[in-house]
Amino acid sequence: MTFDLPPAPHHFSPEHEAFRATVRSFAEHEIAPFAAEWDEAGTFPRSLYKKAAALGLLGMGYPEEYGGTPADTMFSIIAAEELARAGTGGVQASLGTLHIGLPPVIALGSAELKARVVPPVLRGEKIAALAITEPGGGSDVAALRTRAVRASGAEGNHYVVNGEKTFITSGLRADYLTVAVRTDPDSRGANGISLLLVEGDTPGLERTELKKTGWWASDTAHLRFENCRVPAANLLGGPDRVEGEGFRAIMQNFNHERLVMAASAVGYAQACTEEALAWARERKTFGRALAEHQVIRHKLVDMVQRVEVAREFVHALGWRLIHQSGMNEQLQAALVARTCMAKIQATQAMAFCASEAVQILGGMGYMRGTKSERLYREVKVMVIGGGSEEVLKDLAARQVGL
Ligand SMILES: Cc1cc2nc3c(=O)[nH]c(=O)nc-3n(C[C@H](O)[C@H](O)[C@H](O)COP(=O)(O)OP(=O)(O)OC[C@H]3O[C@@H](n4cnc5c(N)ncnc54)[C@H](O)[C@@H]3O)c2cc1C
Repeated sequence: MTFDLPPAPHHFSPEHEAFRATVRSFAEHEIAPFAAEWDEAGTFPRSLYKKAAALGLLGMGYPEEYGGTPADTMFSIIAAEELARAGTGGVQASLGTLHIGLPPVIALGSAELKARVVPPVLRGEKIAALAITEPGGGSDVAALRTRAVRASGAEGNHYVVNGEKTFITSGLRADYLTVAVRTDPDSRGANGISLLLVEGDTPGLERTELKKTGWWASDTAHLRFENCRVPAANLLGGPDRVEGEGFRAIMQNFNHERLVMAASAVGYAQACTEEALAWARERKTFGRALAEHQVIRHKLVDMVQRVEVAREFVHALGWRLIHQSGMNEQLQAALVARTCMAKIQATQAMAFCASEAVQILGGMGYMRGTKSERLYREVKVMVIGGGSEEVLKDLAARQVGL
C-alpha cells in the first residue's frame, strides 16, 4: 500500500520521466547513504559535482555551445524534487549554486567570459555561487552598499571592489562569484546596481566560514572585499557592456530560484512523510502499530495532503511558466505572484511535515541521523532564503496590483 500517485502525464513527457528515474537513483545511491556523514563532517566530496555533471544535472537548461543540454522548466522541477528526497538540503544547495550564479553570466556576460567560465562549471570542475546579501540586509536588495569603482591602470581597465557579503552558499569553495555591487555611487536605489564576476582567488577577497542551524554539509561564507581589482571585462553588462543592469537580472534570477526552492521543499516534505509513514507502520505502542492509532493516522493523512497540494501547485505552475510566460505583462506578473505563493505553500508544507515527522518518530526523531531531524533543522532557511515568506507575500500582492 502506498500514498504515492504517479506524476500527472499532462505535465510530464516520457523524457521527463526517464530523467526522474535517473535523478532518483542518483539521490538514492550517491547522496542519501552519506547524508548523515557529510552533515557531521560539515562538507561533502568535491567529486560529487562531477558525478552530477555526468548525469546532466549541472548542464540542464544551459546552451549547448557551453556544454549544456536544452531542457525545459519541468526538468529543473524534477531534479529539485528528486534530489530533495535524499533529505539533505546542505548538499543540494551547494550542488545547485551554479543555477543562481551562472544565469546572469549567460544573460549578460561577454562571449569570451562565457566561453571561459561556463563550461568548467557545467563539467563539475569549478564551482559558481551568487553573492547578493550583505550584513546590512538581504531582503532590501536595492539598498546594497558594496562599491565597485571603475579605474584604469597598467593592467588595463578594472573595478576596485570594497564591501561585504554574508550568508553566501558555496562562498568558501566557489571559483567564481557573481557579486552584486553598486557601480553608481550617486544612486541610492536599484538603478546603480551591477553584477560583476569575481574570481575566488582575487587578492583582497577574504572568506570566513559561518556556523549555522542546518545545511551543515554546505559551506556558508562571509565575504570581505578589500580593494579587490576585478577586470572590467567581468562586468555582466549585456551586449552594450553597460553598468546598472544588475537589479533586473537579480530579480529574474530570483523567480527561477524560488520555483526550484518550492520544488525542493515538496521533495523534503515528501522525504519526512515517507520516513514517518515507515516508522508508524513498524513501531508498536500499546499493542498496536503507531499507524493504527487514529491520532497518528490523521497526522499522516494531513502530511500527505499538504505534500500533494504543494506538489500539484508547483507542477501546474511549471507548466504555465513554459506555456504562458511572456504572453502579456499582466499574465507575467500573475505568474511571478504564483511563484512567490508556490514557494510559500511548499515551505509551509515542509515545515508542517518536518515537525509532524519528528513527533511521530518520537525520541528517534530528535536523534541525529534521521532525515526528519535534519530537515526539521533545515526548514527555516527554506522559509527565509531566496526571499522570505513576508517579503514574498508583499511582492505577490504588488504583482497583482494590490
Ligand atoms: C543558509 C543560508 C544560505 C544563504 N545563501 C545565500 C546565497 O548563496 N547568496 C545570497 O546572496 N544570499 C544567501 N542567503 C541570504 C538570504 O537570501 C537572506 O537571509 C534573505 O534574503 C533574508 O535577508 P536577511 O537575512 O538580511 O533578513 P532581513 O532582510 O533583515 O529580514 C529580517 C526579517 O524581517 C522580515 N522583513 C524584511 N523586510 C520586511 C518587510 N518589508 N515587511 C515585513 N517583513 C520584512 C524578513 O522576512 C525576515 O523575517 C542565505 C541565507 C542563509 C540563511
